[in-house]
Amino acid sequence: MSIRTIDDLEVAGRRVFVRVDFNVPLSDGEITDDSRIRAALPTLRALIERGAKLILASHLGRPKGKPRPELSLEPVALKLAELLSLDEVILPDDCIGDGAKKVVSDLRDGGVVLLENLRFHPGEEANDPAFARELAVLAEIYVNDAFGAAHRAHASVSALPQLMEFRAAGYLMKAELAALTRIQDDPPRPFYAVLGGAKVSDKIGVIEALMKRVDGILIGGAMANTFLAARGASLGKSLVEDDKLALARTLLQKADDAGIAIHLPRDLRVGASIEATEGRVVGIDEVGEEEMALDIGPATLRAYQEALFGAGGVFWNGPMGLFENPAFAEGTLGVARLLAESKAFTVVGGGDSVAAINQSGLADRFDHVSTGGGASLEFLEGKKMPGVEALR
Ligand code: ADP
Ligand code: MG
Repeated sequence: MSIRTIDDLEVAGRRVFVRVDFNVPLSDGEITDDSRIRAALPTLRALIERGAKLILASHLGRPKGKPRPELSLEPVALKLAELLSLDEVILPDDCIGDGAKKVVSDLRDGGVVLLENLRFHPGEEANDPAFARELAVLAEIYVNDAFGAAHRAHASVSALPQLMEFRAAGYLMKAELAALTRIQDDPPRPFYAVLGGAKVSDKIGVIEALMKRVDGILIGGAMANTFLAARGASLGKSLVEDDKLALARTLLQKADDAGIAIHLPRDLRVGASIEATEGRVVGIDEVGEEEMALDIGPATLRAYQEALFGAGGVFWNGPMGLFENPAFAEGTLGVARLLAESKAFTVVGGGDSVAAINQSGLADRFDHVSTGGGASLEFLEGKKMPGVEALR
């Protein structure tokens, strides 16, 4: 069954509950990156323009079912008012109950209320129907624009929409589903996956799922260390998952059987520690006993550039190295640059990968940058996402 969007609903004068993902990073009460708030603006602006009464709801951090003042959405309400050019975004101090009901009933057309952190109630993460009913009484229409939270069976994304007669996806949710569905069902060919990041074990499901539909996989980051070690390289003090070597060999064998090329690094940039201020480039068999492989080397980058030449589609997850340290960022930035310049349909997913792309300033040159790290991977693994299923 297909999913409706906000364009399919009559919203003027109606109370519209919008589940957004405002789980922004905070430091000393200040928002350090507001991109999640900005990502929801197209949906919010459209609903305001059409005269809806907006009731926004999100989680923030992990308060574990109890109110915690430092995880209040107050800084988000202030930022949102600024971004929407509103005098204020009202924030009742509880997301359910009489206070919230009162604020909602006072809403004018085009007005905006942000409910306090959903996870201040244990019912949110427990997907509790009673908690969902208390949210449901606040609104007539349900909209989910929180792709980043759609893979969790929590009350605001799962139990709640099932209680609502009218439900739809927001524009962000729609864009996420469209880009990832294309990668999943009908990727432009040849289609490659570039995979990196910290661990093979985090990504087994997605590697196996992608193996069924890619023409090749290019591996970097600490994940590559485990594959290189599985092939017999000795990598000194590098991050290697010693208990995953057999699994890595099995994955390489499966790819081989399926005729899928797996590209591994040919050279590496190594350092004395993760704080090292410079690295040196070595062959994969030349890592010193006291050294760590912290980035792919320039020969690998060139090889990956050649392998991706003429690609129709590329999905990228996971940095090619310890990009947070500028001495080991070149592999990740190099891949970002070559994908930005590529004519291929390019999709990036993963929290740290997306942070790297944003840092590179190249984000708008990708076809799609997913706001949902874990969610995008679960989608590509073919798992049913509770928040998406509930919209059908
Ligand atoms: P994503 O969030 O994009 O899915 P991951 O969480 O799997 O990515 O991995 C990102 C982390 O992996 C980053 O913090 C990065 O510094 C680290 N990393 C990547 N390559 C290496 C490496 N060779 N050695 C140590 N850490 C690495
Ligand atoms: Mg991560």
